[in-house]
Amino acid sequence: MHISELFYSVQGEGHLTGRPMYFIRAQGCAVKCPIRAVCDQPESLAFRGGTETSVVTLVTEALAACGPRGWVCLTGGEPAEQPDCEALIAACRQRGLFVQVQTSGMRRISAPVDWLTVSPKAPCDELLITTAHELKIIYTGQSVAELSAYYSGFRAFNYYLQPCWQDGETNQAETLDMVYRLNRAGMGYEFSAQWHKFLGVR
Ligand code: SF4
Repeated sequence: MHISELFYSVQGEGHLTGRPMYFIRAQGCAVKCPIRAVCDQPESLAFRGGTETSVVTLVTEALAACGPRGWVCLTGGEPAEQPDCEALIAACRQRGLFVQVQTSGMRRISAPVDWLTVSPKAPCDELLITTAHELKIIYTGQSVAELSAYYSGFRAFNYYLQPCWQDGETNQAETLDMVYRLNRAGMGYEFSAQWHKFLGVR
């Protein structure tokens, strides 16, 4: 695996907010992403850089960090672009760890995961994954029609809108307004803050 960073922290987004996790951030993202310029993790986007780390080492370090039955969050970059992504998921689960994967949904992931988060960077009909535990959309002014297409075309337990941060500012109020608007139109979107930012942790 090509790794950007490894750290133990608390999940600050979506349904698993508050859960301690060992974060494995993959290095590299080739997704044609409309918010690349404001990506939270610009240092993880290039395929050069990062550190080659074996699956065995990652599982060992995850177990040491979060203990047996702990959670691993495999994120990026785009973790599904790593050749060993599924091997790492399987190895973690074989050792009793729970695995969350955060992906753009532009590549299929066939290994079973405990919690799959798709944060789409393309219209719903271009996604290769259209079923997940949660859908998490970074709100950058998408239309009601576009958000409605995700709601009807993507199957998930939770549908989140999450504010976008840029230069220390956030469109939190606009995001919350859109959540209200979507709910009034019959779509059960929820607001996802990034609590780790408010807590001042990674
Ligand atoms: S897909 Fe995700 S990691 Fe890649 S540029 Fe977009 S926000 Fe960043």
